[in-house]
Formats: sequence, C-alpha cells, structure tokens
Amino acid sequence: MLEKTAVSKNTIRRKVLVVDDESVNRKLLGFIISKEHDVIYAENGAQALEVIRENERLLSLILLDLLMPEMDGYELLEILRNDPTLRRIPVIVLTSESSAEVKSLQLGAADFIPKPYDMPEVILARVRRSIELAEDNIIIHETETDALTGLYTKQFFFQYGRQYDHYFPDTPMDALVLNINRFHLVNELFGREFGNRALQTVADIIREFTDSTNGIACRCEADMYYIYIPHRDDYSRLLGECINKFNKAVDNSRISFRLGIYENADMSIDIEQRFDRANIACTNCRSSYSSSYSLYDTKLHERELYNERLINDMDKALEEKQFRVFYQPKYNITGDKPRLASAEALIRWFHPELGMVSPGAFIPLFEENGLVQKLDRYVWREAAAQIKRWKDEYGVTVPVSVNVSRIDIYDPELEAMLLDIVRTNGLGADEYLLEVTESAYTDNSSQIIDTVNKLRADGFRVEMDDFGSGYSSLNMLAALPIDALKMDMRFIRNICQSEKDLRMVELIIEIAEFLKVPVIAEGVETEEQYRLLKQIGCDIIQGYYFSKPVPPEEFNRLIEAENKEEVKC
Ligand code: C2E
Ligand code: MG
Ligand code: MG
Repeated sequence: MLEKTAVSKNTIRRKVLVVDDESVNRKLLGFIISKEHDVIYAENGAQALEVIRENERLLSLILLDLLMPEMDGYELLEILRNDPTLRRIPVIVLTSESSAEVKSLQLGAADFIPKPYDMPEVILARVRRSIELAEDNIIIHETETDALTGLYTKQFFFQYGRQYDHYFPDTPMDALVLNINRFHLVNELFGREFGNRALQTVADIIREFTDSTNGIACRCEADMYYIYIPHRDDYSRLLGECINKFNKAVDNSRISFRLGIYENADMSIDIEQRFDRANIACTNCRSSYSSSYSLYDTKLHERELYNERLINDMDKALEEKQFRVFYQPKYNITGDKPRLASAEALIRWFHPELGMVSPGAFIPLFEENGLVQKLDRYVWREAAAQIKRWKDEYGVTVPVSVNVSRIDIYDPELEAMLLDIVRTNGLGADEYLLEVTESAYTDNSSQIIDTVNKLRADGFRVEMDDFGSGYSSLNMLAALPIDALKMDMRFIRNICQSEKDLRMVELIIEIAEFLKVPVIAEGVETEEQYRLLKQIGCDIIQGYYFSKPVPPEEFNRLIEAENKEEVKC
C-alpha cells in the first residue's frame, strides 16, 4: 500500500522577489532565502513592478530596498497599496535607517529587515512569518465573505458591527434590510445564472454605498442584505438611485426591492435584535410588486411586543383551554333546498387580558415560528371528538374540515397522526376533511402532491383553500390531487357589483367542472350573492349569510334545524 505523504503548508516552496539595486545585496539575500523558497530578482522599482505583474498570482512575498534609482521603494509601495489585486502580496522593507521603518509600515509594509544581513536565521524566520500571516489573512477573508457576492457573511457582519459599536458608541446608527421582491420567481422565470448576476449587482451597489458612507454590509441569506451605517435621512432618494443603477447594470426593470429601516437604532439591545426590527419593517413594506421602503416605528414596535406576548402566552393558553374551536357550516345548494353538508373548524383565542384574539392575528405569526403545529394538532383532535359527539347525539355525520398549515405538510408524522386521530374517535377518514391553502401547493408542489396523495389514499378528502390567491398554473392544477376548490373570499365580496369578479367566479367554476370537483364559495354574506352563486352553478356555500363560525353548542341548533328541514333558502 502506498504511504500517504503529508504535505505541510510550511514545506511548500514559495516564490519570493528580492528588489535591490546593489548586486551584492541581491546575491546575499538570495542565498539565504533560496534555502526555503524560489527567488527572483529586480534591480529597481520600475523593473520590480513589471516582474510583479508577470508573477501576480504566484508571488508570495517581496523584499524591497528603499533607496533605488528610477523608482524607489516608497513609490512602489504606494503603487502596490493602491492596486486591489497586488495589495495582497506582503512586502518586507530592507533598510539601514530606523526612521524609514515607520514610514514604510505606514505605507503598508508587513515588516522590515535591518541591513546588514548578518543573521540569516532571523531573516528566514521573518520571511516565513510574513508569508504565513498573509496566507492566513486570505483564508480569513474567504471565510468572512460570501463566495457569490464578496460581502461579509452574517456571522462576521454582526461581529464587525459589535466592534463598530464599541469604538463609536456615540454615533447614531441605522440598521437596514434590503430584500428583492419575489426572488424565487426571478430565478424561475429568468434562470439561476441571471439570478446570481442580479444578486452580485445588488451587492456591488451596496458595497459602493457602504464604502462611501463608512458602513458595513452582508448578504444574510439568499436575496436578503443587511446594511449597518451611520444615520442618514435620504433613504427615499437612495432607494431610487439603487434601482436606477440596478436597471442600468442588469436591464430588467421588473425586479423590485423592499427596504426595511430601523433608524437611530437602540444601542442598548443587541445588534441582531436591531436587525430583527429592520426585518419587521421590511416585511411591512406596502407592495411586493413595486419598490418601497418602510420604517420601524412605535406602531411596529407595539405590534412586535404584542406578537411577543402571544408567542409567550401560547403554551399556558393551551393548558388553560383558552383556545376554543368554533364551527362554521357549509351548505350544499345544488338541490331545491340548501342542505348542511359539512363544517369548518376555526380556532378562537379567548385571552384573559387581551380578549378575543382572531386567528388572523396569531396563525400567520405561529406559522413563522413553528408553533402552529401544536395548535393545529389541538384543533384536529377537538374537531374529531366533536364529529363523534354529534354522531352520538344526533345519529348523523357532520364532516368537519380542519385547516392544515403549510409546515404540517413537511411533518413526516402527519399521516400517522391524522389516522390516529380519526381512529381514536371511531371515525372513518372520509368523515374528516382537510383544507390546504393554495399557496402551500405553489411553495413546493412535488412534496405536497406526495403528501396529499397519501392522505387521499387513506380516505381523507382534501379541499384547496383560498383558491385564486396563489399562483397555480392551469398545468399544475390538472396534476393536483384535490377533492374540492374553495374560492378565495375576495372574489365573492364584489360579485354583485363587479362584472370582472363575476366572470372570475364563473371561470373558477368552469375550472372546478374540468377537474370534476365541487366548488365552495366562502364569505357569502347576502341573499343576493347566494342567489347569484346558485344561478351560476356553485355547489357549496359557507358564509355569514347562513351562519358565522359558532361554538359547538350553537352549532347543535343548526343540526336540529336541518333535521326539521328548517334551513333558510
Ligand atoms: P380560512 O381557512 O380561509 O377561513 C375562513 C375565514 O373566513 C374565517 O376567518 C371565517 O370566519 C371567515 N368568514 C367566513 N364567512 C365569512 C363571511 O361571510 N364574511 C367574512 N368577512 N368572513 C367570513 P377566521 O376564523 O378569522 O380565520 C382566518 C384564517 O385563519 C382562516 O382562513 C385560516 O387560514 C386560519 N385559521 C383559522 N383557524 C385555524 C386553525 O385551526 N389552524 C390553522 N392552521 N389555520 C386556521
Ligand atoms: Mg380554511
Ligand atoms: Mg379560505
């Protein structure tokens, strides 16, 4: 077997340039250094510059005499320092006067070696150390920066931000978060290569900006950039400039940005928290279609505190049964009289201090941090137990649909858990309906199609919720395994006034017919809407017209009315 040879970093010979106008000095240094490295030579600054450019990538160190004809060492140092690619090559200055040492260090020299050269071991050690330091610097630079854009990584950005705060504690600072709107679509529509170019261009614009404003920046993740700069108040103009530069460079005016700004950030909280606030402002931007910016203000701060409170209170609320499941009936309107077809389980939070909190306030929040799963499981169990109670009490099955959040779809135990829930309550899977919002289908269609297929094979029926609010293509729809389409409420709101909305609803009904699934209209509030929907062929209706979501004891009355055939039509 061949033995592996360990190649230590220090055993590799590097290329070193010795620049000196005196041939005896060149020879002497060359003799010492060539024990460990390959040496090349130049006789003055001008010649050295040529050699350096020729060996740009290979050169590990320059030993530079200061006093030379044509171009002296100072001049060469200055040129090297101002050249972005040559700047990385360390320079050791060769000098006989100590006054020159300070000046050369100021000009960017890494070290100096005093003349005459009477201690070869010391010279070799200094050469070794300078090369090592420069190489370590390159490694640090590479781990500090993001490979695609060259901006800092998030971790180093925060570290440098904290250092900045330490040295300039009295400078008012702004935390900015810049995001590209709907970037995943940019990638999808124009390709990854274009996406990468767009990300690099944004980074270049940001870098130019932070260089001139004494700030720092990082690419935090995919299409999100963090910028930390001394306070200013011209962001509206800046955002405009940034968009102009971007459009000139990339020639795609359909890309838009949102900017979240936390001005004069509170320095008593950690820098990461300051950027959380800028992030909240960024999420709050008005539009996801055009460029806009938003400031973190007291209103957002209050909302953040309120959200924090909801998150903190959730576990206790579950224990104390502050959450209650309400039920809203869905009526089948295809026959002469509307018939109670099923119900939707909708959660309500009766908070002891905040009063009734609507799901719109906490579901999206809990979806963000994963808490929603716990809550959903609670609702799913309650709903199944309620179907069982109604069955026992009235001898009928009222199928109940529960909402399944998008993160539930990724839970490998989802199927087993739902099966356990229906079995524990002695129900068949067909008595239990699942609502999955359309946008979840577009997020990750293959994963969701897999999961939904399995659930349907178990007998569960799956309704696509909020249909029309996501971005399903007709192609995708045809491949989707679903049992009903629930139209987004927005279409129903103006159906009696707006010809366009009516046409939209008609179209959705046609799509549902094509898919051979019933269509459910949600948010039906008036008799006029109900009659119109019946006329154009809608199958099932859910809305205040029949009933608001009500607690189970009130829902009993709806079942009793149904049994006595007293439903309004
Ligand atoms: P959704 O699933 O689309 O539920 C329908 C929403 O429309 C409910 O709002 C319902 O009260 C409301 N609604 C029904 N009929 C009418 C009407 O005629 N007019 C108007 N203006 N509104 C009507 P709610 O209960 O506030 O729930 C909002 C959203 O919160 C739900 O939208 C659903 O996405 C989510 N949600 C509710 N409960 C749960 C839950 O247990 N788990 C999960 N993951 N999400 C839930
Ligand atoms: Mg729903
Ligand atoms: Mg809905």
